[in-house]
Order: sequence, then C-alpha cells, then structure tokens
Amino acid sequence: VVVLGIETSCDDTAAAVVTEGGEVLGEAILSSVDLQAKWGGVVPALAQQAHVEAIDKVVGDTMASAGLRPEDLSAVAVTIGPGLSLCLKVGVLKAREVAHEGGVPLVPVHHMEAHATVARMLCHAGGESLEFPFLALLVSGGHNLLVLVEGLGRYKILGTTLDDAVGEAYDKVARLLGLDLSRGGGPAVEALALRGDASAFDFPVPLKNSRDKAKNCDFSFAGLKTSVRTAVERTIGLPSAGPGDRGPEIGQSEQLRADIAASFQRVAVEHLCLRTRTAVSWARQTHPEIKSIVVAGGVAANKVLRANLESLAADLDMDLVCPPPRYCTDNGVMVAWAGLERLRSGVGVGAVPESAKPAEGEWVELRPRWPLGELDERCSQQRQ
Ligand code: ATP
Ligand code: FE
Repeated sequence: VVVLGIETSCDDTAAAVVTEGGEVLGEAILSSVDLQAKWGGVVPALAQQAHVEAIDKVVGDTMASAGLRPEDLSAVAVTIGPGLSLCLKVGVLKAREVAHEGGVPLVPVHHMEAHATVARMLCHAGGESLEFPFLALLVSGGHNLLVLVEGLGRYKILGTTLDDAVGEAYDKVARLLGLDLSRGGGPAVEALALRGDASAFDFPVPLKNSRDKAKNCDFSFAGLKTSVRTAVERTIGLPSAGPGDRGPEIGQSEQLRADIAASFQRVAVEHLCLRTRTAVSWARQTHPEIKSIVVAGGVAANKVLRANLESLAADLDMDLVCPPPRYCTDNGVMVAWAGLERLRSGVGVGAVPESAKPAEGEWVELRPRWPLGELDERCSQQRQ
C-alpha cells in the first residue's frame, strides 16, 4: 500500500508518499509563511496564489523522488478541512487530477486527524506501536484540543480553547515584541525566550482560579495575550508597523523583550501541562489502560513544551509520543498516513474521480469548518 498525501489547508503546500510500513518514499514542502509575515497574518487570497504556484512542483518533486507514477499509487489522500477554503481547493483539485490519472480512489482527510495520527506512523516505523486509546494534545495555529482518541475517527473532545489557540497566542506575542516573523511567530518567540528570565513577569496562569479548575480541561489564551500586551506597553512600548531587526546586541529593551517572551512561554506551557494532567485523570476513568500522551500540531515543535510534557508524562507513568518538529507543523506525510489508515480500515474512502477536472458546476467536497468529534459528556455538562 502506497499513498500520496497532499496538504494545502493554510500556508504550506506539502506532499508526501508513504508506505504501509511507515516509510517515506518522497516528500516536498513549500511555505509562504515569509510572504504572509509581511501582512501580519495569513491572507487567504495570497496563500491561495502561493499554493497555485507551488502545487505542481511540490507534487511533481514528491512523485519523482519516490520514483512513482500515478498508477503505482494505492490512493491519493488530501486535506479537505478544516482550513481556508480557497487554499483547500487547490490541493483537492490537484489530488483529483492525480487520482484520476492513476485510476485510484481519493481519500478525504481531516487535518487534525492527520496531526494526531502521524505519531502512529512514526512509532510503527521505529519498530514500536502506538495503540488506541491514547490522549492527544493538539496545539497549532487554529486549534487547541485535548482529545481522547479511542480509534480511527473515534474522538472524544475533553477540552478546547474558549478563545485563541496557543499557536495564535505565540504569533500575536511575536508581533507585539516586533520580532521577525519570516519563519513563523512561534519559533521567533522560542528563540528569544532562551535569553530571557522566565520569572521576570508574573503573568497569571489562565483559568487557574476558576471554580472547577480540577475538572476543567478547557483552555484560554486571550487573557495571557492581554497581560503580555500590557507589559509591552509599560516597559518597551508597542512596536511600530513592520518586522523588527534588532541585531545581535542585547540592550536593556532587548533584555526586557526576552524576559517577556520567556515569561509568556512559561505561563503558556504551564497552562497546557495543567490541563493535560486533568485530561489524563479524566481519560483514566473510562480507559484505565491508557498509557500514551501524543502531542502534535505546530506548537509541539517547541522544546520547552516538550520538556515539560516529558516530565509530566513521567510523573503520571505515561509515555509521551512527540513527532520530530518537521512532522508537528503542517506536512504531507501526516496526510498520506491518515489516508493510509483510512484506506486500511475502509472507512471514509472516496471514489476514483471520473475526470481530472470537475465538470462545470460540479461540487468539490471541502469542509473548511469540520469539528473533529463529539464532546465528552463531562465537557458538555460543564459548558452548558
Ligand atoms: P491548524 O493545524 O490548527 O489548522 P496551522 O496548520 O496553521 O493550524 P500548524 O502549521 O500546525 O498550524 O502550526 C503553526 C503554528 O505553530 C503557528 O501558530 C506557529 O507559531 C506555531 N509554532 C511553530 N513552531 C513553534 C515553536 N517552536 N514554538 C511555539 N509555537 C510554534
Ligand atoms: Fe496544522
């Protein structure tokens, strides 16, 4: 079984070919994050344009490095949501073209399912296995979820964010600190935080005093972002428009900036870890055999978060499974693997497209808003 996966839900155009054994035969990725950085966020029309320009090369390079033709594939998997519809469409049309050429089925993939299940591929390829059920902490630009993964397509949401996702908070903090966003806000804040004192600013840990703190697995990052904004205003002043380039010298304001970044990161990570701890105790009530925590999504590339989750997992006698950073941020491998799992289980596999391009007026399936699964009952009771 060999599957091509295509990902275009946000600002990365990515593709990969993956085998059943978890071997990556070819992969390619082009990102428009540096282009988007100039605009202070992802502009859908620009991102779409970048996908249109990149998609043939990315898929062509992937197939060439795998040494495969479309007819050698078992299926073509593609992200159909959640994401920006303009962007998703570029990937879906390309996937349809390749699937038609090869005479193979299209497998529609949920972007967050892909983030969560790529960990199974990596364990498998490493000669181990990651069995269901497991707990997943999905932390990215648009999502902040604690999910009990009972099986493929069987997800119980234990917690979600009441406002922003943590990746979004990292991106906003990067902008408040006037950092260079060309490699993304998260990595810029993480790098600056290395030079800062994490206890310099006493930002409150979100939702820590809420009545049911021991029972709640939800997240909130809006308050923390406001605390950072206030601290920036009071100390160094808000940045003027445009990315900053402040050279290697750490002056007084450079030190303050690093201290704010480090303090923000300490609190964000503590919040994520506290909620994960609660989620483990919830998960154990219904699934006492659960033994792994999977962390995935772009923010899972963060070393401080990984280290803290590592000690949390050890403390709870759980394993932490964390994909290497390049498979935490958006990539084609995760989509190919999620498609492969779908293909193997036979659930959610689409048809062989009848034509390379949809006929005039023919509907292309996209799901820009696509919730991952049902809510755990304890959660829905709380949210009422
Ligand atoms: P979603 O997966 O929710 O649709 P997305 O696909 O845009 O969102 P990803 O590519 O999975 O998100 O992750 C990008 C996010 O991860 C950005 O917000 C980025 O700032 C953040 N991020 C990436 N690397 C790091 C890091 N080292 N530390 C913190 N945050 C990071
Ligand atoms: Fe993503």
